[in-house]
Amino acid sequence: MTQQPMIVIELQSLRAWVANEHSKGATVALVPTMGALHEGHLDLVRLAKSKADRVVVSIFVNPRQFAPHEDFDRYPRQLSADVERLGQGAADLIWSPSTAEMYPAGFATRIEVGGAALGLETDFRPHFFGGVATVCCKLFSQVMPDIAIFGEKDYQQLTVLKQMVRDLNLPLEIVGAPTRREADGLALSSRNAYLSAEERAIAPILHRALEASAAGIRSGTDTDAATKAASAAVMLAGFAKVDYIAARDAVTLGPPQLGHPLRILAAAWLGKTRLIDNIGVA
Ligand code: AMP
Repeated sequence: MTQQPMIVIELQSLRAWVANEHSKGATVALVPTMGALHEGHLDLVRLAKSKADRVVVSIFVNPRQFAPHEDFDRYPRQLSADVERLGQGAADLIWSPSTAEMYPAGFATRIEVGGAALGLETDFRPHFFGGVATVCCKLFSQVMPDIAIFGEKDYQQLTVLKQMVRDLNLPLEIVGAPTRREADGLALSSRNAYLSAEERAIAPILHRALEASAAGIRSGTDTDAATKAASAAVMLAGFAKVDYIAARDAVTLGPPQLGHPLRILAAAWLGKTRLIDNIGVA
């Protein structure tokens, strides 16, 4: 039997609920999202439920991780559909704060992240990880979860947040979840809704190019040559621009090290939509 999760919009009520769960000895997992939920998000919720007694899903479109020219205004918002979806899953509570609750007048603190945040996304969205780190730090101190689940779909984000939690001794564990894909390989994303039918047909080429690149590296192709080939393949397929396709150390996101696992990370524009994806090279 499924039960509708409770929606909470006030910090006091959230804190009281979590404190009560913790006092009963229950563990709490947090799944932070910006809403427009799809099966990838629900995978995170299911993983959360397998690792903790209670699951809190936060839904907050964080203005501080968008630059003024980015898609904050048109980012899909569909709270009632999201609540419905979560009702079929394992979420116990939805934390849906207002912007005023998150950033009241006078709010003036921002977390600065280095290390894994350097390069890749930061070269193109310099404001991004500061905004993500700040909102996640707030979410962690609001919810006080024992664990928080993030998707490997946003691999650099996952790595940056693991680093932040380690660096600041935050008392929770960050757990990564595998990327959920469509049958044709396209990673599920709330931004896929922006794609035209023609673009949607081209989009899976990004994943295919990353697979080919990973296979090339495994069979001895130089990482630069393999990632350049992937960029050429997506451009040939009709992508408008490749921001980056790069092989990095899978743990630090620094330059590839001999004998260390690699991750190939990519961001590319299909028309006006920016898609990101990544793949491991064992
Ligand atoms: P978002 O709402 O898009 O910011 O994403 C919220 C969380 O869902 C992040 O931890 C993402 O990495 C994760 N996520 C997004 N898309 C996927 C996917 N296709 N598979 C697994 N996790 C995902």
